[in-house]
Amino acid sequence: MKLAMIGFGQAGGKIVDRFLDYDDRTNSGIVRAAIAVNSAKADLMGLERIPQDNRVLIGQARVKGHGVGADNELGAEIAEEDIDEVQNAIDAIPTHEVDAFLVVAGMGGGTGSGGAPVLAKHLQRIYTIPVYGLGVLPGTDEGGIYTLNAARSFQTFVREVDNLLVFDNDSWRQTGESVEGGYEQINEEIVRRFGLLFGAGEVSGDQEVAESVVDSSEIINTLSGGGVSTVGFASEEVDLNTGGGLLSRFTGDGSGEDDLDAANTTNRITSLVRKAALGRLTLPCEIEGTERALLVLGGPSEYLNRKGIERGRKWLEEETGSMEVRGGDYPREKPEVAAAILLSGVTNVPRIKRLQQVAIEAQDNIDDIQAESEENLEELVEDDEDELEPLF
Ligand code: GDP
Repeated sequence: MKLAMIGFGQAGGKIVDRFLDYDDRTNSGIVRAAIAVNSAKADLMGLERIPQDNRVLIGQARVKGHGVGADNELGAEIAEEDIDEVQNAIDAIPTHEVDAFLVVAGMGGGTGSGGAPVLAKHLQRIYTIPVYGLGVLPGTDEGGIYTLNAARSFQTFVREVDNLLVFDNDSWRQTGESVEGGYEQINEEIVRRFGLLFGAGEVSGDQEVAESVVDSSEIINTLSGGGVSTVGFASEEVDLNTGGGLLSRFTGDGSGEDDLDAANTTNRITSLVRKAALGRLTLPCEIEGTERALLVLGGPSEYLNRKGIERGRKWLEEETGSMEVRGGDYPREKPEVAAAILLSGVTNVPRIKRLQQVAIEAQDNIDDIQAESEENLEELVEDDEDELEPLF
């Protein structure tokens, strides 16, 4: 499906930048337009792919291009004040060719954390196409204020979008890596997963017609109904030239080999589906109780078959208890068979409950510290016996 992507804040901008790169590399055609919005000039300048004209600096009157720190209330205020500047950039893109908006932001910081929900609300008011969010949760080691920001942004963002796709930095962090190097890998992981998913609805004319191709309306239907989504992914390398048809041609009489190949293909698909659903999700959660799901199988068409996808779909129905599990394939000439599973409307998410708990503790701490420092200051400034009078 074709998306208008808007990256809000530093993480948002960098991830949209990576999506453009992914689009170029894989020819998947999912990014119809890309915009970055930030209150920090330096962050906008650091982007590589997003066209200069599509980089919008907001809040200049307030923060003079220096960003909002981690103040997400200020981030939200600035976004509201300068929404017209963002709208001007959106006016320049052909929104009639776009299936949905995707607003991307790190929820732990300031600009994106506060601004992304404001933008989503604005877009919902103006456009009829769906507005999705891609929200990134901070690592638990980033500190209380980031957790508090993320918890508050999460509540607001979910309410303002048609669906919030969540990626949790914490479960993807690798020890011993520099933060920057770590983010590069994490961002690659993000675009691979969401790229396969959204790319499925965008099979162009010159690609082989899939047996049961995923249509963008199926992605939209899976995401409709709102709530929170997570994505599972698993892949396996395959040899591009030894797929079903060819192999059986080389090995004699054919028919028996074809059966064997079909069984292998089916088994490979079903085990990839299980790995994707039971492995690391973008947001870790219990998959039982998921409201809707979509299974996308990408790979060379000789490695895809309807039976495998059907079995994978049935298995997902059993595991999630959902009556609404869609599935289909996405043929692409890459030496890899990959399964992406979109679990939409997940509700059993201990990670979010923990995040909220830590956020409440951080909020209480911050209130205590503030009260204490006000007291301390008063103690310092006032004389003990109250004998002095201030001037006015
Ligand atoms: P903002 O510019 O004020 O919106 O804040 P940032 O986007 O710099 O940071 C917000 C949060 O996003 C941080 O707390 C990190 O958890 C996360 N973050 C920052 N940069 C990246 C990135 O490149 N990739 C990912 N996945 N997360 C990031």
